Amino acid sequence: PKTFQYRNVLVLGLAKSGKAAAELLLDSGIKVTINDLKADENSVDIKKFKERGARVVTGSHPLELLNDIDLLVKNPGIPYENPMVAEAEKRQIPIVTEIELSGFLHDGNLIGVTGSNGKTTTTTLIHEFLKEDEQPASIAGNIGEVACEVARSTADEETMVVELSSFQLLGTETFSPNVAVWLNLFDAHLDYHHTAANYHKAKAKIAANQSERDYLVYNADDSAILNFLPSFASQLVPFSLQGKVEGAWSDEEWVYFKDEPVVKRRDIVLVGEHNLANILAAVAAVKVSGITNEAIVKVLTSFGGVEHRLEFVTKKNGVYFYNDSKATNILATSYALKAFDQPIILLAGGLDRGNQFDELVEKLGNVKAMVLFGETAEKISLAGMQAGVQHISTVNNMKEAVEEAYQISTSEDVILLSPACASWDQYRTFEERGHMFKEAVHKL
Ligand code: ADP
Repeated sequence: PKTFQYRNVLVLGLAKSGKAAAELLLDSGIKVTINDLKADENSVDIKKFKERGARVVTGSHPLELLNDIDLLVKNPGIPYENPMVAEAEKRQIPIVTEIELSGFLHDGNLIGVTGSNGKTTTTTLIHEFLKEDEQPASIAGNIGEVACEVARSTADEETMVVELSSFQLLGTETFSPNVAVWLNLFDAHLDYHHTAANYHKAKAKIAANQSERDYLVYNADDSAILNFLPSFASQLVPFSLQGKVEGAWSDEEWVYFKDEPVVKRRDIVLVGEHNLANILAAVAAVKVSGITNEAIVKVLTSFGGVEHRLEFVTKKNGVYFYNDSKATNILATSYALKAFDQPIILLAGGLDRGNQFDELVEKLGNVKAMVLFGETAEKISLAGMQAGVQHISTVNNMKEAVEEAYQISTSEDVILLSPACASWDQYRTFEERGHMFKEAVHKL
């Protein structure tokens, strides 16, 4: 195992990841200082940390806290402009996220997944493949459980599958997956990383510390990723939607790994070209880990998608229902619309962010009807009219939307909730919106 040479650590930000990091460091007998602007001095957590001997400072960022610090663990959401982080940078104190700590704790196989889109789906698929093949495995990171906490309870014989955001990756120094998966690279999160180049550099950290024993599964169709490949020592395993590569690829009939057919396309439950890319990436990641085709086939013929992400819900009287509540912008909804050849009845609308929906017009080719709700109902209906959608109506809530959609549907139609808007005008979260949809569908 790698040795942890730090003795005096400052944990900045006491959210879920900060708490886990602080607990862990205290358990290992390391001196911990916790600094959080908003935390309540009288909260149970803070009392507990004080009892355990941590120095806790809330309400401000006194820079002198850094005087004896040799490592700063920061919450991934805290920007590098934060005065404490900026000062640490100036003093050349290493700045990491708890992901870095997880790398010290888990000495077994590590599969890391990053990309601008598709992380959760791909991470979940990989974990499912491993479980189906009866390989002990755990899942962590951006997807839910804090990685360093999961790492602590994951035995070294187990494989840990970690979803990694660019924010988390930027705070790594030595962290290195045995199998890294780099899905795609769009220019996102520029507010945080300032320049596309910085954002790209953060993502590239997923393979920066890999050796020639490790694998990098990468999207061969993404030219931005290709630029980075010469700087890695890893064994390169491409995946591509565009034709045969020395990794995972597909034709109309099959998904292949190199020359070997792995799974028939028509047996796969997940829909959408973007999901096929995620499948190829996941297949490549587990094929280099020795997982059987049987396990891969079994998962792909039953897995209907991560909840709220173009998730297959059910089929009723020949009508298919899909829940894509996570689609909170026009781009995500266009991916969903592209996934079907059948006529679509689209359920959409939600929080008004002041944008127009013109870009949706050309994506509505397969849409035979739109049932709209929320603040943006009227704006979206304009796009529908422009596209010549035959039936457009506005309803008050999800139950009405589902009932109306079902009433006008015929066999082989797809009823798709893909709102193209955030949910906060009518729901607490996109999850709540998705649940309401599924509940209404099951009550039909
Ligand atoms: P992430 O965890 O990176 O946010 P998810 O798997 O949760 O990704 O998918 C979120 C949304 O991103 C999906 O609903 C879909 O609209 C889009 N998406 C998923 N996979 C891809 C992909 N490979 N390429 C482009 N867009 C994708």
